[in-house]
Amino acid sequence: MGKLDGRVALVTGGARGQGLSHAHVLAAEGADIAVVDICEQIETVPYAMSTVDDLTRAHKELEEHGTRVWTRQVDMRDGTQVQTAVDDIVAELGAVDIAAVNHGIWTRGDFWDMPDDVWQDMIDVNLTAVWRALRALGPHMMSRRSGSIILTASVNGKEGQPGSAHYTAAKHGVLGLMKSVALELAPYGVRVNAIMPGFVDSGMTNWQGCYDMTGGKPGSTRAEHEQNSRHWHAIGGLIEPNEISGAVVFLASDDAKRITGIEMPVDGGHLLLPGFNTAPV
Ligand code: NAD
Repeated sequence: MGKLDGRVALVTGGARGQGLSHAHVLAAEGADIAVVDICEQIETVPYAMSTVDDLTRAHKELEEHGTRVWTRQVDMRDGTQVQTAVDDIVAELGAVDIAAVNHGIWTRGDFWDMPDDVWQDMIDVNLTAVWRALRALGPHMMSRRSGSIILTASVNGKEGQPGSAHYTAAKHGVLGLMKSVALELAPYGVRVNAIMPGFVDSGMTNWQGCYDMTGGKPGSTRAEHEQNSRHWHAIGGLIEPNEISGAVVFLASDDAKRITGIEMPVDGGHLLLPGFNTAPV
């Protein structure tokens, strides 16, 4: 008997990384799962994004839980694709009870010479596309007078980080969006919360440019990246995607039925420390 038996959960950006982990953990609790992901490269993103093969593999893996699985390639920046996906999930799986709006990108650059497309892609994906998800989901959940939406922000939603003004602005925006939408949906019994992961080991961070940032010098190794990431967490080093998923299940479940509008750090105590604006050890 799972906590989420009979419910339908949508995960955006779920072909890999934290989203795929959330999908597994939600399915293990009994939820039917819908996963959407762009599965193609955005030109300004310097690391490899997900592929159609990732989504196909995710679909097969998720079916092993025995609940229903629905997957589709969707660019969350495209309002028509988002609305059609939500409508089709409702038609085929019956509802969307839970949504983990998790998709995102990470790029770096000093604000003073950031090209327009780097800024715009970041805001489009990490902020505007979150609103597009909420806009498509809101009326459906309002009509059913229930639902739980979990937005993935970041510790960058609460603090600055050099070289990351656009990501930081988008994640601060996600928290503001979440609080306003939580108030708008509260009269309908729909809950909206945000999680704020610390530094997570995923395709977003597992590449040379990120090792160089964590290591503080070009050519830093994966071992140095792992070692230096400890500097940014009070407990442990890099966080595993499945260490974020428990918070998603909690917020999705009736255990959190009186919880709405919160910003939940899952960050190994990162926000207690001086933050990203300190050199690695
Ligand atoms: P990831 O790159 O493995 O996963 C992100 C997924 O989002 C990818 O599969 C990608 O294809 C998908 N995606 C990107 N743009 C999309 C779009 N327009 N439409 C649909 N899908 C799209 O990285 P992750 O670490 O699993 O990231 C998940 C979330 O966690 C993101 O919102 C990210 O900003 C946030 N986050 C990550 C970290 C970290 O250290 N990795 C820390 C804090 C917050």
